[in-house]
Amino acid sequence: MSFFAELGLAEPILRALEAKGYNDPTPIQRQAIPALLEGRDLLGIAQTGTGKTAAFALPSLHRLAANPIERKPASCRMLILSPTRELAAQIADNIEGYAKYLKISVACVFGGVPISKQARRLVPGIDILVATPGRLLDLIDNRALTLGRTEIFVLDEADQMMDLGFIHALKRVANLLPKTRQSLFFSATMPKAIEDLGKQFIVNPVRVEVAPNSTTAERVEQYVTFVNQAEKQALLTLRIRALLESKEMDRALVFTRTKHGADRVVRHLTSAGIEARAIHGNKSQAQRTAALDAFRQGSCPVLIATDIAARGIDVSGVSHVFNYELPNVPEQYVHRIGRTARAGADGIAISFCAPDEKPYLKDIERLTRLKVDTMPLPENFMAEAAKLPAPSRKPAEEERDARHDARAQRGNGGRGGNGQSRGGGGGGGQSHGGRAQGRDGRPRDVSPRQEQRDGERSNDRGPVRNPLGDAGAGGDKPRTFRPRGGGAPGVGAHRNKVRRAS
Ligand code: AMP
Repeated sequence: MSFFAELGLAEPILRALEAKGYNDPTPIQRQAIPALLEGRDLLGIAQTGTGKTAAFALPSLHRLAANPIERKPASCRMLILSPTRELAAQIADNIEGYAKYLKISVACVFGGVPISKQARRLVPGIDILVATPGRLLDLIDNRALTLGRTEIFVLDEADQMMDLGFIHALKRVANLLPKTRQSLFFSATMPKAIEDLGKQFIVNPVRVEVAPNSTTAERVEQYVTFVNQAEKQALLTLRIRALLESKEMDRALVFTRTKHGADRVVRHLTSAGIEARAIHGNKSQAQRTAALDAFRQGSCPVLIATDIAARGIDVSGVSHVFNYELPNVPEQYVHRIGRTARAGADGIAISFCAPDEKPYLKDIERLTRLKVDTMPLPENFMAEAAKLPAPSRKPAEEERDARHDARAQRGNGGRGGNGQSRGGGGGGGQSHGGRAQGRDGRPRDVSPRQEQRDGERSNDRGPVRNPLGDAGAGGDKPRTFRPRGGGAPGVGAHRNKVRRAS
């Protein structure tokens, strides 16, 4: 008898698991499912990729199915909050699979797509709703949903939610939930602020931890190449080209710090004949979905992403993760390299470290308690780099990038460059010199948190154009929301609170 059968999970759930080929539980499932079947609250420290979704979905499905009650209009029985659209869609997909043989309805709502269709779907009521916070509150403000009948509440990726400035939205949701409910709170990291947030949602929880806080994925081989910022593009192109030629690489995820940076990398790789796409908060939902699908299906072997867009995405066969820029939050490094070496596969993480990023590397090594091996520059690097084609760009893109760079320059008090070479890469090296510096003297052109906030808020609201154009400080800023109507909260009204708070 399988572990799942021994737990007494309903037969239709076991059938679905059999169809998926799940024979043994993952560690988090082993720890969490028995307690959740008893109706306990749960505090889980786990990343996506650990089998977390099934850990909370299977016992929840069992409990909902064991207690069938009539659906009430505009309500849900289980609410799962996820920070990003991609993760929400992925969770809903997984749950639909587990619920295949049950009479349980699942809906997923997030921004960037028309709200009316989602509101219509909620009219008769839904059993399980997966939502991003912004769109959830929009639906509530539009009276398309009430949370008063929620029996099970799951807050996923809590640390990411906090990073994105969703704290006020979460507090609002907490106030709308009924007092009697089962609550599950998951986070990849559990600093004190997140634990305090958790206390607002969960009561006497069972604590489940699948990997010690911030442990680097053990099977990931990690390397760092020390390289000037201006030469990173050429280095990336040459590395990926060599890996593709030698068939050592299946799929690579490349992390950049900014959305503009991600687009630039795509242009350079494309001009060198390497199929690549980007996924970030300035892309429309359709573009994001298409890029992810192409990456998943293997037709596009390289996906360039900002942290927020990639968090939680489950794509098998990611053999390489490149850190084009090192994150200045060391935990982010752990999340990034965790995208490879999933489900038993080995993975390789290669970081490019510019001179001004060395303090970040130190922080990462301190957190992970290991020394990252150095990977030297390829032989004849400068000569090979000089042969790379310059990317062809539309004039509008040229202009936008020039404005973006000029802005970064101004942000640095006009200080030109950071002592790094501007050559290399046959025009491929876009210097990030001129980055503003933070108190610690580290570059702060766009902080990851700011980038994430920009990315995901606009993510959650679709392909949003900044009404300030590029004239205002921070061209990546999301548009300012003005609630509809005089005083009555309309779509997105809650975000004003969120934005003021950040
Ligand atoms: P998650 O952390 O929920 O994103 O899950 C990561 C991946 O593991 C997903 O592709 C799941 O389908 C898969 N998975 C989850 N539980 C199991 C299991 N017990 N056996 C095999 N694969 C699983």
